[in-house]
Amino acid sequence: MERLKTGAGQAKEKLGELQNAIRQQRVAVLNGSSREELAGYLQHWEKLVGELQKDMMLEKSMQLGLLYEAAHTINASLDWRHTLQSVMDAVILLTEAERGMLILIDENNQLQVELTSTNTGEEFTEEDVKFSYSVVEQTLQRGRPILTSNAQLDPRFQDSTSIVAYGVRSVLCAPLIHKGNPLGVVYLDNRARAGVFTQEDIATLGAFANQAAGALANAQEHKKTDQVLAEKIRELTILQEMARDLNTSLKFERVMERSISWAIAAAGAECGALGLIAEEGIRWVAHSGQIAPDTMSVLRSVYTHKPITDEHRMILPLLRDERPIGALYLLAEERGIRPHKLEFVRRVADHVAIAVENARLYEALRQANQAKSEFVSVVSHELRVPMTSLKGYADMLKNGKHGALGTQQREFVEAIRRNTQRMELLVSDLTDISRIETGQLSISPRPIAFNEALEDALDTVRDLAEAKQQTLSLEIWQGLPSAHADKARLTQALINLLSNAIKYTPPQGHITIRVWLSPEEPDFIRCAIADSGMGISPQDQVQLFTKFFRAADPQVREQPGTGLGLAITRNLIEMHGGRIWVESAVGKGSTFYFTVPIAMWA
Ligand code: ADP
Repeated sequence: MERLKTGAGQAKEKLGELQNAIRQQRVAVLNGSSREELAGYLQHWEKLVGELQKDMMLEKSMQLGLLYEAAHTINASLDWRHTLQSVMDAVILLTEAERGMLILIDENNQLQVELTSTNTGEEFTEEDVKFSYSVVEQTLQRGRPILTSNAQLDPRFQDSTSIVAYGVRSVLCAPLIHKGNPLGVVYLDNRARAGVFTQEDIATLGAFANQAAGALANAQEHKKTDQVLAEKIRELTILQEMARDLNTSLKFERVMERSISWAIAAAGAECGALGLIAEEGIRWVAHSGQIAPDTMSVLRSVYTHKPITDEHRMILPLLRDERPIGALYLLAEERGIRPHKLEFVRRVADHVAIAVENARLYEALRQANQAKSEFVSVVSHELRVPMTSLKGYADMLKNGKHGALGTQQREFVEAIRRNTQRMELLVSDLTDISRIETGQLSISPRPIAFNEALEDALDTVRDLAEAKQQTLSLEIWQGLPSAHADKARLTQALINLLSNAIKYTPPQGHITIRVWLSPEEPDFIRCAIADSGMGISPQDQVQLFTKFFRAADPQVREQPGTGLGLAITRNLIEMHGGRIWVESAVGKGSTFYFTVPIAMWA
């Protein structure tokens, strides 16, 4: 493009030389030159004009070549605006136009000025953007370039107000036509001078217009593909965000409410409702805005599995595995429904259907779990009463107040006592776990001495350890601050851990209880219960704190147990704000650690 400008610059130089010569001669004539002198000047002028014409022709054909070259690159160039702008600038120089515009027909069939160029290189002002509509319209109608030397006098435009209003004189306008379709025009004018454009300029501009039309059609095609692609990417991103949002919670109400907002947004609707199939037909479970769905149409859509769209509504069936589970009813009374959104909204509806189904399943599971916990709590309460009486009678028999017992009878009574105790433990563990699961178990923490809870727990388990000739040693820091804990529940956690240590450690084993403050967690008291027992494999350690888990080892299975103790203990510790963990090696022993918060105000 630089070469092109330089070429035009040389022609301008020649023109300048000629103008200078004419000016000089005019002075000479005014000073009274002779006929011979004047004839000499005339000769000189003719020579200059001839040279100039030759130069101009040469340059024009060279420039035309360059123009072609440049125009060809338009097609290959992604930055079509930039390239067209350069070519426009060149066309202005070549044709000596004052201004140039690339005017395109937009989607609404309106003329839009896309690019502008001036011979001074100055920016177009609002004032400059005015052009003759009659010339542009006639060019588009004829499908061929229009040249007028002086539009003011041209009979073709005598009715044109814009020509007069804008004082347009020379105009050259060429249509941009691609595969028979008019895309717009290239419009050149010179408001000051008449007769600026020549027939050759028509050829130059025509060539440019042809190339520009091809480039524009290409760019428009690209733009369309880009737009479709961008729309698809946008939709995918929305679907991803939506799936993430709907998956953050399984809470039924939230899922319904979020589903409805996503569907409204996707359809560009103003309000909407979500209904689920129920015995009575459709039960509307969520809505946004004032809406009274037309149930008949909804049922039609649900049972035909087909969406219904009209000017203002979109009804989509919610299907899971080809089975209708509900419907989305979307309204856009003001804006109107955009039918091309249907495909996307359908995909949103697919996601909604999955989320709704998951939330429903989860809700059903939650309710079943609740029912199970309630059942366990009723049953354990009902068991407790007869067990207390069994235990009481067994104690009475054992005391011998109602007659002495023989050795075998004593053994039987002892067995009844042991088993009622075992059942008692089971019932109390079941009650606790069901209360934890239904959120009915609460704790009342207050400042207490950790030692007191530990003493109570040791009182309960000491006999068990002695029966197995195990040693229990204590390492407790002096001057420990008070713990912020529910004493009964902390004691229960300690009993669970100590009785496990005793149960799963062979006779004559060692159990050590350590209580201290760790700099790692300065706001918590730490307690470790270490045993020299059978240990726990790494796989079992992972499941240890889940309810009903018991290691498969026969040594474990021969001990009485419910598999609930550690699950309850973990919940109790966590309810206090502490944590629990284990370190263990098979055959070497286990250490259970837990923390309880220090009472800050004590
Ligand atoms: P239970 O003792 O009633 O079986 P828990 O929930 O208290 O139930 O413990 C779960 C399982 O963890 C036990 O069955 C046992 O396999 C393992 N376990 C718990 N404490 C120890 C321990 N100190 N040493 C070895 N295994 C243990």
